[in-house]
Amino acid sequence: MRKPIIAGNWKMYKTFEEAIQFVDAVQDKLPSNDKVDAVVCAPALYLPTLVQVASESELAIGAQTMHYENEGAFTGEISPAQLASVEVDYVILGHSERREYYNETDEAINKKVAAALAHNIVPIICCGETLEEREAGTTEQKVARQITAALAGFEAQEVEHMVIAYEPIWAIGTGKTATAEDANQVCGAIRAVVQKLYNAETADAVRIQYGGSVKPENIQELLSKEHIDGALVGGASLQPESYLTLLEAA
Ligand code: PEP
Repeated sequence: MRKPIIAGNWKMYKTFEEAIQFVDAVQDKLPSNDKVDAVVCAPALYLPTLVQVASESELAIGAQTMHYENEGAFTGEISPAQLASVEVDYVILGHSERREYYNETDEAINKKVAAALAHNIVPIICCGETLEEREAGTTEQKVARQITAALAGFEAQEVEHMVIAYEPIWAIGTGKTATAEDANQVCGAIRAVVQKLYNAETADAVRIQYGGSVKPENIQELLSKEHIDGALVGGASLQPESYLTLLEAA
């Protein structure tokens, strides 16, 4: 069976002190790592410290984006080699905010996935539709296109260790959640894409999260669905209590 994975995405929130306080507050209360993978994707500035503060616990630390080159003249960027050098375990790739505000393309995301794997960083690959696309009935085509592009060129054994996050853009930070049925249907469609590109074993192994206004009140129903293996969570991951509640639900 697939182990659930709950990943907080702090975006551009929290001071340094607040970030450390959060890790201190949760790290002794985490459910066992046999049951759920607990991840926090923090602002890049705090990553080395948080990795150290959390080193004795089961909390994994992730980045929110990265470049695909290991080094070079890319002012302001952070490379996969740099993330690996401070022992970051995960990286969110292709978040809709990165796609929209920083022109992250499918092609760049594919290169970033390769770069993450080369450094043993688990990529959390985001996909999802706009409200217009949902209303036009093109959700499944959109996510199939994004996932096919992100996975181009990888072997089945590599894909098995990746995490995919289905995040309808209209549900991120809006308080609107996809119904558990709708979310499960799209996560199932993503799994079918992986099966078509690879095989049933790979499709069965890859973990697919739902993201979009996940909170303690709706996590249980979402996680009860066959194809939803966890959540990528923005707002509700900022407070230790609600983050722990999400983990306990898993
Ligand atoms: C996100 O940032 O990926 C997200 C899903 O945010 P929220 O949970 O706040 O909707």
